[in-house]
Amino acid sequence: MTRTAIVTGGTRGIGLAIAKQLSEDGFSVVIVGTREKEAYAEQLKWFDENERDYLYVTGDISNKEDRIHIVKMSVSHYGKINLLVNNAGVAPKVRADLLTMSEESFDYVLGINLRGNMFLTQLVANQMTQQEEKGIIINVSSCSAEVSSVNRGEYCVSKAGVSMLTKLYADRLSSEGILVYEVRPGVILTDMTSTVQSKYEKMIEDGVFPIRRWGVPEDVALAVSAFAGGKFPYTTGNYIDVDGGFHI
Ligand code: NAD
Repeated sequence: MTRTAIVTGGTRGIGLAIAKQLSEDGFSVVIVGTREKEAYAEQLKWFDENERDYLYVTGDISNKEDRIHIVKMSVSHYGKINLLVNNAGVAPKVRADLLTMSEESFDYVLGINLRGNMFLTQLVANQMTQQEEKGIIINVSSCSAEVSSVNRGEYCVSKAGVSMLTKLYADRLSSEGILVYEVRPGVILTDMTSTVQSKYEKMIEDGVFPIRRWGVPEDVALAVSAFAGGKFPYTTGNYIDVDGGFHI
């Protein structure tokens, strides 16, 4: 039977790699992006060319109506949701010291990374509990959930919050047959890291990441795929680091 997965932020970077991997794994994929479908023609070409079953939905996860729209569209199209991958996330627009960080930046980052994630999960969890086939929820958090960076504190707080959401939803939903996991990327080569590339080049060179290479989106997608495959029925609320062995 076909399984349906929602991947937020599935139009580029880690999210696109996850959407492709899940498609390879046999999922029908609901790809959520912030702009109209035409804007992502190039990225979605792979799905069309390979005749993959997917649905594109426009939605901003920080917006309540959009969250409802994402879930409604998924259910009306596929009748059920087997997997939610909360991948969408942002870094602060400007890095600022903790002593000068603005409330606007805090609200912007938390509104997407934490609040959006929290309430989209709530909607999907309520859908999954009503289904015969239960499901799996996977949060893409970050090593920043534990490692502090004082010039992007709002990001660290948001990802630490996501880790707590993983535990909370795991506790709440295990009795409903729904499992919740988390993947924690370290430094992955995407648009998000493009502005700080030289800093990380040096860290890779110095062996801070013992597997001395950039992480790539496909590395994260493989970890998501492992959890999504349902191979860990007696495990919930846990995470996999995808960080080249970066442990401090
Ligand atoms: P990216 O900037 O390339 O992609 C982020 C995606 O999220 C984009 O598709 C974007 O459109 C989407 N998005 C942003 N705001 C949204 C919103 N309000 N509603 C819906 N979608 C929204 O970044 P990435 O590197 O691919 O990051 C993906 C996830 O991995 C993020 O949660 C990020 O925090 C996390 N992460 C990335 C790294 C890294 O090194 N790249 C490290 C740790 C964690």
